[in-house]
Amino acid sequence: MNPVIALVGRPNVGKSTLFNRLTRSRDALVADFPGLTRDRKYGNGQLGGKEYTVIDTGGISGGISGDEQGIDAAMAEQSLLAIDEADIVLFLVDARSGLIPADEAIANHLRVNQKKTWLVVNKTDGLEEHSAMAEFWTLGLGDPHPIAASHGRNVTTLIDEVLAPFPEREENAPPPDAERGIRIGVIGRPNVGKSTLVNRLLGEERVVVFDEAGTTRDAIEIPFERRGRRYVLIDTAGVRRRKNVSLTAEKFSIIKTLDAIKECHVAVMVLDARSGLVEQDLHLLDYVLNSGRALVLAVNKWDGLESEQRDKMRSEIKRRLGFADYADLHFISALHGTAVGDLYPSIERAFKAATAHWSTNRLTTLLQDAVSEHQPPLVHGRRIKLRMAHQGGSNPPIIVVHGNQTQALPEAYKRYLTNTFRKVLKVRGTPIRFEFRSGN
Ligand code: GDP
Ligand code: GDP
Repeated sequence: MNPVIALVGRPNVGKSTLFNRLTRSRDALVADFPGLTRDRKYGNGQLGGKEYTVIDTGGISGGISGDEQGIDAAMAEQSLLAIDEADIVLFLVDARSGLIPADEAIANHLRVNQKKTWLVVNKTDGLEEHSAMAEFWTLGLGDPHPIAASHGRNVTTLIDEVLAPFPEREENAPPPDAERGIRIGVIGRPNVGKSTLVNRLLGEERVVVFDEAGTTRDAIEIPFERRGRRYVLIDTAGVRRRKNVSLTAEKFSIIKTLDAIKECHVAVMVLDARSGLVEQDLHLLDYVLNSGRALVLAVNKWDGLESEQRDKMRSEIKRRLGFADYADLHFISALHGTAVGDLYPSIERAFKAATAHWSTNRLTTLLQDAVSEHQPPLVHGRRIKLRMAHQGGSNPPIIVVHGNQTQALPEAYKRYLTNTFRKVLKVRGTPIRFEFRSGN
């Protein structure tokens, strides 16, 4: 689990600028909640062996018509939600505009909040730090920390200090081992039917649920057994939380979702056949792909649809989710239990593919066959050479290819290799990554 840093502050203080500096934006995940005018953005970053997650409450997503009250309310709501999810709050103020009443309002809220809060004074570039800090002491939030997000000034030092209490964790650490079973993360946006599916998966006949639930942040891990196989379900919907107290699903949390993706072997992503695909689905899916996790897609609420609607939905999914075509696609009804059992063979297959090991001999032969079938192009009159392949990791599988001038290998050729390896090695349900090394 990464420590979670929330960036809060009024508009224009530099939250997005800092967010971009702190994250690899490729990974950023946007949570667009209906009814809110501002999006929250989630991204991961890394500093000195520590990984962290940053939440930016800054982006205005349109639909604003000069309604200041509305903006303030929406911002306050986003900030509160972000603070709720965070371990650390960075409260940004602007050295150039100085202290203004909106800052005081936010500070009042932060002072009563229990979260560890750092007062960060941005845009100190070209200013004398000491005097730029002076007026912010009155906020009563301790030492102001001067930075310049757009120049990077003091940013690393600050984050280093902020992360000091948190332990180191290997970047892109693989999920925990499979000793207790295949770890299944059930994910998806609100209302697609995650809770219903979790209950259905656990309520199936002959499923034995063990009573040794652990937790990953707030998501509950539920170990169970089915037909002699062990699994651990990571329940982001909070179905089994505080048994018997309340079965109402909790509010959707991106952080729980990110944790589940990180901690699972196979993600089961639930989509809603009735509402169709929305941006949030695609953002989430994109994130799963970037994370390299094995994936099974479940289109839920398939019951009671007219066959026309089904055809329409099926073709929309095929068209828009083409980039996730390695994942098995199931049309299910969690409510009625239809086809829910079919998820298991896909989960097993995806897990097997994601954790498979292939010998260097096999991979190299496969590479040479692929190359003789279809030669890489010439670059400056010299042919790109691909000589040898070995496995560099698993979950997701990484194939390392050695050769000459590999940096000039066109994308189309990489796709050809990926498809060929995928087909021959029968890899389904997991992304497969290639790394190219060059002798010269
Ligand atoms: P947000 O609304 O809080 O997300 O603020 P932005 O990140 O969009 O920044 C608002 C403006 O401040 C932009 O024009 C940025 O280029 C500028 N800005 C951000 N950080 C700095 C900084 O460290 N120094 C200066 N001079 N300008 C900055
Ligand atoms: P979550 O927010 O993703 O956990 O979604 P829930 O499991 O709470 O389901 C949201 C709503 O969709 C509830 O009213 C469910 O009864 C309904 N629902 C869930 N699965 C199905 C299904 O397979 N078919 C139909 N028709 N409704 C479903």
